[in-house]
Amino acid sequence: MNTVVSEPIVVMPVARKDGSYALRLCLSQGELSIGMMKRVMDVMTAYGLPTLRATTGQRMNLEGIPKDKLDEIVNALGTAVEKCPPGVSVCPGSAECRYGQQETRELGRKLTSLVKENGPYPFKVKSGVSGCSFGCGLSFVRDIGLVGKSTGWDLYFGGSATSNPGPGVALGKKLHEDEVLDRVRQALAFYKENGKKGERIGSMVRRLGHEAVAESLK
Ligand code: SF4
Repeated sequence: MNTVVSEPIVVMPVARKDGSYALRLCLSQGELSIGMMKRVMDVMTAYGLPTLRATTGQRMNLEGIPKDKLDEIVNALGTAVEKCPPGVSVCPGSAECRYGQQETRELGRKLTSLVKENGPYPFKVKSGVSGCSFGCGLSFVRDIGLVGKSTGWDLYFGGSATSNPGPGVALGKKLHEDEVLDRVRQALAFYKENGKKGERIGSMVRRLGHEAVAESLK
């Protein structure tokens, strides 16, 4: 039988209201390798931790960490960061899903790098990449949303699934991959320049109007 080698994980501590902590596993596209799973299982077993819970952002939270064990458990898992990299939800896309019009994983990785490299922003930026119009990558309700079509990518900007919920405004249809990433870069630059501190993209778009954002992309 093959031996599984445990792999370190980057985690973000999250304070809970009862004084305990959760540790968010900073996963990319929700993927957990077998080595990472072993590390988590070993730590959960060693410290008697009861629950690992999936988040809506395709990450996982290890719950119920006592405050006095936090540092020890972080070290056992890997390393801690103040914030996980920007969240990008990515559906399986055409490589795995029969409805998929476009492959999503690689574009998801490029979008993650782009969002990270162009920050910081007035507030958090969450993105979604979906391989077709069903939008399983939450593209319609993310700050940046890409939706695969048979001939390219549609771009949505300023969607929200929290307060003031609603879909993002369309900033382009059937764009080539390079074109859509370039437009995302421009839209994020507009947000950096015009967003107020603590203001999500959707609120900024409502305040300034769809036309102002679209005009800046010309
Ligand atoms: S958005 Fe489309 S391609 Fe992606 S998982 Fe849903 S149905 Fe499949």
